[in-house]
Amino acid sequence: MTSVRTRIAPSPTGDPHVGTAYIALFNYCFTQQHGGEFILRIEDTDQARSTQASEDAILNALRWSGLTWSEGPDVGGQFGPYRQSERKAIYSTYIDQLLADNHAFYCFRTPDELEAIREARKAKGLNPGIKGDLALPDDEVKRRLDANEPYVIRMHVPDEGVCVIQDELRGEIEVEWSQVDCQILLKSDGMPTYHLASVVDDHLMEISHVIRGEEWISSTPKHILLYQYLDWTPPTFCHMPLLRNPDKSKLSKRKNPTSIGYYQRMGFMPEALVNYLGRMGWSMPDEREKFSLDEMIAAFDISRVSLGGPVFDVEKLEWLNGVWLRENLDAQQFIQAFCEWGLNRDYLGAAIPHVQSRVNTFSDVVPLAGFLLSGAPDISADDFAQSDDLVKQLQFTLWRFDALREWNKASLLEACQFLAEQLDVKLKALLAPLFIAITGKSNSISVLDSMEILGSDMSRARIRQAIEVLGGLSKKQLKKVEKAYRVLPSE
Ligand code: GLU
Repeated sequence: MTSVRTRIAPSPTGDPHVGTAYIALFNYCFTQQHGGEFILRIEDTDQARSTQASEDAILNALRWSGLTWSEGPDVGGQFGPYRQSERKAIYSTYIDQLLADNHAFYCFRTPDELEAIREARKAKGLNPGIKGDLALPDDEVKRRLDANEPYVIRMHVPDEGVCVIQDELRGEIEVEWSQVDCQILLKSDGMPTYHLASVVDDHLMEISHVIRGEEWISSTPKHILLYQYLDWTPPTFCHMPLLRNPDKSKLSKRKNPTSIGYYQRMGFMPEALVNYLGRMGWSMPDEREKFSLDEMIAAFDISRVSLGGPVFDVEKLEWLNGVWLRENLDAQQFIQAFCEWGLNRDYLGAAIPHVQSRVNTFSDVVPLAGFLLSGAPDISADDFAQSDDLVKQLQFTLWRFDALREWNKASLLEACQFLAEQLDVKLKALLAPLFIAITGKSNSISVLDSMEILGSDMSRARIRQAIEVLGGLSKKQLKKVEKAYRVLPSE
C-alpha cells in the first residue's frame, strides 16, 4: 500500500479563512488515522495578490488551531521548496514537455479578441469557452515570439466527450469536455497558473489524496487531463462540502466573520473551534457534540462526511466554546489562557501607547479602552447623530474595508479619505459614526488606531452591527446603494 500523504495548499492572498482550517482538519484526521504525512504548501502563483503578511498570518492561525504539518515552507522537508514562487524552474520543464507533445499551445490573443471569440461562439449557439482552435501554425508562433509579442500557454482540451471524476465522497462526477476551457497554464508574467502548479506539485510531492473544497470540482477535469498528458497517476480526489452561512449562502466575510484571527481575537479556544469544524458535515458515531481532536482522529471515517451544505453558525460555536471553557479549564488554567489571550505583551503593547497619554490612573484604563478586549460594543441607534445617508455611508465604508489588502492605520485613513471625497462629506463626519460603531463611546482612543489594533474582522463585525442597529437596508435600498457604490473607482 502506498503511504498516505495529504496537503493543505492555501493561497496567501488574504486573512486566514476558517474554511482553510476546516479543510486542513479533514486532511489532518484522515492522515493521522492512516499514519501518513500532512504537508503545507503555499500557492502564491498570483504574484499581484500574494503577500508575505498573509502567508505569516495563515501559518500562525493554523499553528494556533493545533493542526500541525510535517513538511512546509517553515519546517522544510525532502520535497521542497514548499512555496510555489520558488518552483518556477520545475514548472517550466513540464510546460516544455506539454508543448513538445502538442498538449499545450501558445496563445497571443488579447482580452478583447477573446471576448469577441466568446461572443461569436455564443451567437452560433456554442459554448462560449476558449477552445483549441486558437492554436496557430508553428511558423506563425515563431514569428510572433521573435517579435516579442506577449503570450500565455494554454492546455488543449477535447471538444467532445465526457470526463469522469472519481470522487471518494460523490462517486462518479461527469463533466462534458465542451464545458471546459483551454485553461491557461503559464501566464504572461511567466508564472504558472494554480492548475499546472498544483498538479505538478501534488505529483512531485507524492500526494496520495487531494481533499479540498467542492469549489474545485469544476477544475478537476483539467487536472485529470494534465495527469494524463504527463503520464502520471492522479491522486484520489475528495471534494468536501462548502461551509455555508445560516441562510445557506456560501460562507463569506460579507455576512460572517470568516477569518481565524477573528475567533482567536474574540477569545475562542482553538480546541472548540476545531471541534466545531469537525462537526461540519461530519459527526461522531455516537452523535456527541463535544469531542477533542484525538477523539475525532480515533473515530474518523471520511466516508461519513455528509454532503448537505454544513452551516457555520457563530452562535452554536459560542455555545460549544462555553462548554469547553467551563469543562476543560480549571481556574488556574483559565487565568493563564485569559492572560495569554488578551493581557499579553503583544496586544497590550499595541494598545497601551494610545491609552497612556489619556489616563490619570490605571483604573481609567478599562473604562477608556475595555472595548479592545470585549466583543462588539453595546450600542443603539440613539448613540448616533442620525442622518439620511448614515447607513449608506457605513455600508460604503464596510465594502471599502472588505476590499482592503492591507489593514493598518495608513490604509484605513486612505480608504476613509477616499470615501469622504466621493460622498462629499468631511472626513470628520465619516469618522464620527465609525467611532461609535467601533468603540461604543463618544470619547476614547482614535478610531483608526482602534481599528488597526482590533484587526479587520473584529472591526468589520462592529460596522455590520452598527448598520443593523440603525435598521439596516431593505432589499430595494441595498440595490440602490450597491449601484451607487459600483460607480466609484475601485482603487
Ligand atoms: N490554492 C488553492 C486554495 O487556495 C488550493 C486548492 C486545492 O486544494 O487544490 O484553496
